[in-house]
Amino acid sequence: MWLHADACWGLMCAFTDELTAKLDGIADFDSITVDPHKVMDIPYAMSALLVREPAALRMVSSYSDLIMQEDYAFGQVTPFIGTKEWSSLKPWAMMLAHGRDGLAEMMRKRLITTRTFAGLVDANPRLLRLNDPDMTAVVFLYLPQGTDRARPDVERINAINKGIHQRILDEGRWHFHQFSLPDDTGRLAQDAVLHPLRFMGNNQRITEAHMRDALDYINGIGRQLETTR
Ligand SMILES: *Cc1c(COP(=O)(O)O)cnc(C)c1O
Repeated sequence: MWLHADACWGLMCAFTDELTAKLDGIADFDSITVDPHKVMDIPYAMSALLVREPAALRMVSSYSDLIMQEDYAFGQVTPFIGTKEWSSLKPWAMMLAHGRDGLAEMMRKRLITTRTFAGLVDANPRLLRLNDPDMTAVVFLYLPQGTDRARPDVERINAINKGIHQRILDEGRWHFHQFSLPDDTGRLAQDAVLHPLRFMGNNQRITEAHMRDALDYINGIGRQLETTR
């Protein structure tokens, strides 16, 4: 069986000794995708597919109506894209400028940023953190005043968090990502589908003042919304 690792973000575990243990066993995989444009501070797009035995790729080639037959689908021509820009120049120049030590230092700062943010969430009684960050993502919910943690009103909590996200998009002052996920660790309600917000600690320009301001902003919107929902 072909074993593939989607390491789009996971690539950053290779930058620092603190995280390399998470990559144990990856050498046994047949292919790995990595996204330097996400984790190496270089412009979109720079993705790579690393293949242990390139010749074996033939075994997983396939034909799909969905991608190949649409009138304007790029899938008709990839991987034979033809002339394109010198994409590999971006990671090469990045590595040359920063070196391994530079990447390790970049990750050290990101982990500090992530831990700082997680600490600010934990210190805020209106916010509930849903994950223990393994890399740089912190997932959290706003809880309306008076939430009974033993019997939470999940529907209302989701509605308010979706409302917060919509305001974030409308106002464009800060950005947090939102998605749905089952509460598989039971931090709020075991297996309920939640709509939390997600912070990413990768941007080296993020300061503690930014994080405090962004969380105050979320709290302010949450308080406004809980009076109407
Ligand atoms: C971002 C991401 C993708 C898509 O990668 P792009 O090259 O940015 O389109 C796929 N898988 C995972 C896990 C990702 O985080």
